[in-house]
Amino acid sequence: MSLRRQELAENLRDAHRRIEAACSAAHRSPDQITLIAVTKTWPVSDLLRLIDLGVRDFGESREQEGHAKFSDVQSAVPDAPVLWHFIGQIQSNKAARIGEWADVVHSVDREGLITPLARAGRDIQALIQISLDGDSGRGGVDPADLAALARQVTDGGLMLRGVMGVAPLHGDPRSAFERLHALSEALVIENPNATWISAGMSGDLEHAIAAGATHVRLGTSILGSRY
Ligand SMILES: *Cc1c(COP(=O)(O)O)cnc(C)c1O
Repeated sequence: MSLRRQELAENLRDAHRRIEAACSAAHRSPDQITLIAVTKTWPVSDLLRLIDLGVRDFGESREQEGHAKFSDVQSAVPDAPVLWHFIGQIQSNKAARIGEWADVVHSVDREGLITPLARAGRDIQALIQISLDGDSGRGGVDPADLAALARQVTDGGLMLRGVMGVAPLHGDPRSAFERLHALSEALVIENPNATWISAGMSGDLEHAIAAGATHVRLGTSILGSRY
């Protein structure tokens, strides 16, 4: 086993242990949590190692980089049942291209993205990113506009699956994730299939799982430090 493969295997095992411990503390089942390996900035060779280690969900945050990795993985392992998650802020002029390869888009935060994302005619699962810090500069719709955007997503031909949030840079991640959970519960009343909550990164996954996260997005803790 190469050193890198061994490192990734250990990191994955540690991440699953953290998820299990957080689930146990929250009286939840680890079956309810999907681990997304955030592979931005890391080479395709790492994705292939992770696929070999059983990872099926990959998160990318840039169109060109993600698109290239999608193509390379498809050629290398055409039968791998990989799900591609787009998790970054979306520039309007990139949305149509993202719609050509992403399976799940976590960062739908305005109406103008919907038609271009749906243009390629693929079944795209959409999460609405909600701003949890009152600073729309980091992406995310204002909570007050969530219900309206949810209707537009559904009318626009994307499959609405839930919400996504990023903890504020400063402040308490737990209360932010609890707010996200409450917004999710309100959304599910009108949209019974929109049960996913994408929340939690390497530094705060325990808080996210305690507050109901169904998808955690782990970069550093699986792949190492990007810098
Ligand atoms: C980079 C990124 C992550 C992963 O962050 P880590 O701290 O490396 O786990 C998760 N979510 C989003 C939106 C990201 O951009």
